Amino acid sequence: MRMKEDAMKNGQLKPGYNIQFGVDAEYIVWISAGPQPTDTTTLIPFLDSIKSRLKYTYRNIVADSGYESEENYVYLDENGQLAFIKPSNYEISKTRKYKTDISRKENMSYDKENDFYICSSGKKLVATGIKFSKSKTGYRSEKTCYTCEDCTQCPIKSKCIKGNSKKPLEERTKHLEVSKLFQQKREAAITRILSDEGKELRMNRSIQSEGAFGEIKQDMGFRRFLCKGKKNILAECILLGLAHNVNKLHNKIQSERCSTYLHPLKTA
Ligand code: SF4
Repeated sequence: MRMKEDAMKNGQLKPGYNIQFGVDAEYIVWISAGPQPTDTTTLIPFLDSIKSRLKYTYRNIVADSGYESEENYVYLDENGQLAFIKPSNYEISKTRKYKTDISRKENMSYDKENDFYICSSGKKLVATGIKFSKSKTGYRSEKTCYTCEDCTQCPIKSKCIKGNSKKPLEERTKHLEVSKLFQQKREAAITRILSDEGKELRMNRSIQSEGAFGEIKQDMGFRRFLCKGKKNILAECILLGLAHNVNKLHNKIQSERCSTYLHPLKTA
């Protein structure tokens, strides 16, 4: 199951609905339409609605970085599904600017056994507390707070401590807030997406899910909904999905690809 979103217009100039497609073997198999401005919170309701109607479960959930959240990772784990979700910082984390940013915990070394970070000045950032927070969806996350043992004479402080504060920089101390659970889930997701299976699934997400929107918008010339209201929009999307699937079936019959689920990963 590969997910892809698009904001489609509802007759006004601004995008009106967040449309989600679940794509399997190039066919659109599930659709949702909602008001959410971002994709993160659409994943769980989308998968819940599939679960309520289908007798089987999709094991592999492939989605782009807009769907990454601790809540989504936890949901997938609890439902026996595997997240092939690209971390939201995946692309930026490869840049030189990111890799040389000493303020980031990713560029500090971490002692897992004793639970502390070591910064660029060789100081320890030790765990000083736990912070709980609740998301808009009601998900409760736990973050460990780390504080540097001594930032007073640090010559690179201005590069390390960022953000606005009423306190002058000289008086500030470096703090970090880390969700260990999120870190752990993200690391597992990275391992999965970098595996051969992960690469193949991600390539197919790109081709199949992006392709479904591309075909509807470009090839079928769909630019605006004819109706208004979520229920009607969803009905329109379902008709579009059916039309797409008929076209897809025709193309697959013509090219003798009816039993093909995934485009194979090309190896050099
Ligand atoms: S400001 Fe503190 S945490 Fe940052 S490099 Fe200096 S000593 Fe380390």
